[in-house]
Amino acid sequence: EAKLAGKNTFAFYSADMTRLARRRLELEEALTTGLARKQFELFYQPVWDVASGQLKGAEALLRWRHPEWGLVSPVEFIPLAEETGLITELGGWVLEEAARQIRQWQDQGLDPGVVAVNVSSKQLKRGHFPGFLRQVVTEVGVSPRYLEVELTESSLLALGDRTTELLSEIRETGARLAIDDFGTGYSSLSYLRRFKVDKLKIDRSFVSELSSEGGGLGIVKAIIAMGQAMDLEVQAEGVELDSQLQVLAELGCDSFQGYLKAAPMPAAEFAELLVRES
Ligand code: C2E
Ligand code: MG
Ligand code: MG
Ligand code: MG
Repeated sequence: EAKLAGKNTFAFYSADMTRLARRRLELEEALTTGLARKQFELFYQPVWDVASGQLKGAEALLRWRHPEWGLVSPVEFIPLAEETGLITELGGWVLEEAARQIRQWQDQGLDPGVVAVNVSSKQLKRGHFPGFLRQVVTEVGVSPRYLEVELTESSLLALGDRTTELLSEIRETGARLAIDDFGTGYSSLSYLRRFKVDKLKIDRSFVSELSSEGGGLGIVKAIIAMGQAMDLEVQAEGVELDSQLQVLAELGCDSFQGYLKAAPMPAAEFAELLVRES
């Protein structure tokens, strides 16, 4: 009887695995098709100066407009794109598209400020990313100082020995460097000294705990103090409440993004915001 149960369990898992594998394959194919059929789009979330309230730029966030499934979140497809290697092509498109968009806004007489682009470690490992970045800004005709490359702490760790060299090569192009989701990985003073970056982005999870009685306040304080000590800009992400912004202002946080002011929006909407804010 035990044997039979075992068999059944196996049959159950096996059917489940097949379903999962099939779903994965379907998603993988859809990603490739989506890239060819231009189903991807960048949204822009405004970044604001804490002290002055002025618009400073935006973070470009990838969106997939699937004909049947609608808008698909990057949380769902980025991991798969990383596993399959498609992230190189997809991430390449993101950088090109952001550069083209900056150029287009500038041609219209608008100043978008600095536009941040998320770059995955897989994307950094393949090919020569700093060279690609240089090529993109040259071809598009935009100054690299309008671009900021966002890397997560875990990406930096994944790169191992090559991290320091890669980071300095990226900064040598003239683009800015930010550490995304700061505080969720291996955050230390010594690595901030080794890796030259321009900005720390405090992870949303700590910001969301700022106004509650959670442990967020201490961590946010520590990150801001660390940033100030290292002469780095500190940006908070996921600011949803005015009370959170008040605390960030008191602590001397430099900039922020969040639903309190604006969610990520299509390029056309961000252009309207630029017109209103200028
Ligand atoms: P991230 O880079 O940390 O981006 C911030 C995420 O927080 C975005 O989610 C944004 O929409 C969301 N957010 C902003 N303000 C608030 C807020 O006030 N409250 C809440 N609850 N959320 C807020 P999104 O656009 O779904 O992106 C999720 C993640 O997907 C990004 O996290 C990033 O890791 C990844 N991602 C997005 N676009 C790209 C891309 O082009 N390339 C790569 N490699 N990853 C990307
Ligand atoms: Mg980011
Ligand atoms: Mg982030
Ligand atoms: Mg995050």
